[in-house]
Amino acid sequence: MQRIGKKKKLRRMTNQQNVVVLDVKLHGVRNVLPPSSLTVTKPFSAQDFKMLLMKKRFETEKAGAKINAWVDSMRASSPTRIKSTASLPENDEKTSWIVHHPSALSMFEQIVAASNGKQIVMFLDYDGTLSPIVEDPDQAFMPREMRAALRDVARNFPTAIVTGRCRDKVYNFVKLAGLYYAGSHGMDIKGPSKSCKYKKGNQGVLFQPASEFLPMIDEVYQALVEKTISIPGAKVENNKFCVSVHFRCVDEKSWAALAEKVRSVLNEYPKLKLTQGRKVLEIRPTIKWDKGRALEFLLEALGYANSKDVLPVYIGDDQSDEDAFKVLRDRGQGFGILVSKVPKETNASYSLQEPSEERSLILACVKEFLRRLVDWKKLSQRAPAP
Ligand SMILES: [Mg+2]
Repeated sequence: MQRIGKKKKLRRMTNQQNVVVLDVKLHGVRNVLPPSSLTVTKPFSAQDFKMLLMKKRFETEKAGAKINAWVDSMRASSPTRIKSTASLPENDEKTSWIVHHPSALSMFEQIVAASNGKQIVMFLDYDGTLSPIVEDPDQAFMPREMRAALRDVARNFPTAIVTGRCRDKVYNFVKLAGLYYAGSHGMDIKGPSKSCKYKKGNQGVLFQPASEFLPMIDEVYQALVEKTISIPGAKVENNKFCVSVHFRCVDEKSWAALAEKVRSVLNEYPKLKLTQGRKVLEIRPTIKWDKGRALEFLLEALGYANSKDVLPVYIGDDQSDEDAFKVLRDRGQGFGILVSKVPKETNASYSLQEPSEERSLILACVKEFLRRLVDWKKLSQRAPAP
């Protein structure tokens, strides 16, 4: 009787069954399976291959649709020129938008009147609110006059910076010790590093609700740096509890390629999610924590958890600031102020429209609002009691 070796015998068996043999070893069989099956119970037919191809094609199309949606969203949240975006409403719609979100400067008297008997607490985003959006995010320095205005605001009102940036990095930009800093979209909160006159609440607060994600964020940061190196202009920033992929300097033609690279990394991390800001893709933990929750936490830390004697004012320009605007709207307390060149859907009550593309003039309206607030406070302190 002809002796057949183990290897040959396996080949003969599998050939008879029309099975795709991927790897056969003398001491066992490894991966002797059709790609979509765990057991060799029936032949892997041409129909099975057809189904497999259709499944692959469907998955590819689904991924492509997702990338297209991402790129549309990147365009919508990152208007580059005033007339470049399809989302820009026509003039009458713009007028209607202004009616619903009037300028915080023209409504200044009404805003301060609403604070009668209440403590104003200021919340400010950083990029695009206190500093201009610049090509290199590491160079987003705050103008000297803005720092002076912010310092005066912080001397007169409890004040917090709420940003997607790493807390240490934004502190190095702002360099003012008497403020609260909420970095990484509020996932890294720290109280003033020097004594502050608002001693009602817990000043030494340090709160990091996503600390368990630190190793994962470091890993994802490395992976994104490696993956996006082939996209000219892409810059990945480690913000401690979240990662930013800036596309300010990426040619619009490469946005889809960049989105695909980010998607391929993110697919490996189901506990992380993607959000978008102005010319930035942001990867964050899926925990229910955002700038809105940070605002609530800070009000509590300041001793105003359920108080009616407080008027929070939040100024921001980003999609992520909408979470804070929504909290204020839902509480029916305080005001959100959106900084924007163009009308867009928002939960903010008021707007501050950047008057110019010119870098030196950008954000002049924010500075003007802060200045008027400080002047009003000084005047109201001087005024004799009724
Ligand atoms: Mg911003």
